[in-house]
Amino acid sequence: MDLTGLCDICGKAATVYTCGLCGRRVCRGCITLGGVCKRCAGGRSIKADSKLVRDRVLGDRGLDRRI
Ligand SMILES: [Zn+2]
Ligand SMILES: [Zn+2]
Repeated sequence: MDLTGLCDICGKAATVYTCGLCGRRVCRGCITLGGVCKRCAGGRSIKADSKLVRDRVLGDRGLDRRI
């Protein structure tokens, strides 16, 4: 669900996404691939994050995660 608003992290007016953990509305630049904001993602690398997403997507589709 996309909506326009002010990013709760950088304050920029943009399309904002809701953080899956804290519920903050953050812009594309402040949300990670895992669907959580930079603040919640903390020190986790983008790489680790995208792996989580991949696992989740594959799990949702009932596919083998080793693919
Ligand atoms: Zn932002
Ligand atoms: Zn957050």
